[in-house]
Amino acid sequence: MKIYTSRAVLSKFLLTQQSSKKSVGLVPTMGALHKGHLSLIKAAKLKNELVVCSIFVNPTQFSDPVDLAKYPRQVESDIEKLKVAGCDILFLPEVSEMYSKDEKWHIDLNGLDQILEGLVRPGHYQGVTQIVKKLFDTVKPDTAFFGQKDYQQYMVISEMVRQYSLPLQLIMCPIIREEDGLAMSSRNIYLSEDQHREALALNKGLQLAASLFSSSSILEIKKKVLQFLKNEPGITLEYFEICDSKTLKTVEEKKPGNLVALIAARIGSIRLIDNILLG
Ligand code: AMP
Repeated sequence: MKIYTSRAVLSKFLLTQQSSKKSVGLVPTMGALHKGHLSLIKAAKLKNELVVCSIFVNPTQFSDPVDLAKYPRQVESDIEKLKVAGCDILFLPEVSEMYSKDEKWHIDLNGLDQILEGLVRPGHYQGVTQIVKKLFDTVKPDTAFFGQKDYQQYMVISEMVRQYSLPLQLIMCPIIREEDGLAMSSRNIYLSEDQHREALALNKGLQLAASLFSSSSILEIKKKVLQFLKNEPGITLEYFEICDSKTLKTVEEKKPGNLVALIAARIGSIRLIDNILLG
């Protein structure tokens, strides 16, 4: 696996590959890799001749400097995992490589950045689109792979791709879970054993929503799931919503097309998100 830290050098190398018609798949990550990330590498390998994984803890998507500082960083073990997974190229830039001082960025995301995660984490999706656009510009991938785990992020990036008519395909890969159902996340390593058990309530709430879907109204589902979550120890719910899977607008009634149930909660100081497609 080749490792690049410079945008210019990586770009130049990829241009030579692309001119010999090799297709390139990109998997953007913030590192502390787990099986969820590695499933994206696997999907990228199936569809492309060259797979680029980026590891960059992007400061512009964090509003809390403490959260940024304590985000897990495990580059050495990440490199080993990527080698085993058969990743061809790791892009591992420093912050100064990706940003100039006082850089400005704003994209109108059609309101998608103002709801759900965007309400709790103002500016988060501006930071996400800012870095993902830079990664797309550097790598010029044919296909970019993202996890359903960050469902709203996928919809936000789709909106950016649509607005700029970016010449690439986005692929959303399924959520990889622990055997007990907890969605894998780099932040899970901070959960104590008790907290891990408490965190299972997120997936259980989503499973309850899915099991009620055919027999209950949206309002009944929401009521029962909220009641369930209220009785679960250790979790502080931020939101549980049932939304249109494309616009992410909350729905009050069932309608044709897919819906998605999304949840965010804190277990102690650790913030987790999860979701499930309904219908
Ligand atoms: P992150 O490093 O958390 O920014 O995630 C990088 C990519 O991995 C994003 O596209 C995530 O949606 C995806 N991802 C994270 N966790 C999972 C998971 N449990 N299953 C599938 N994809 C995931």
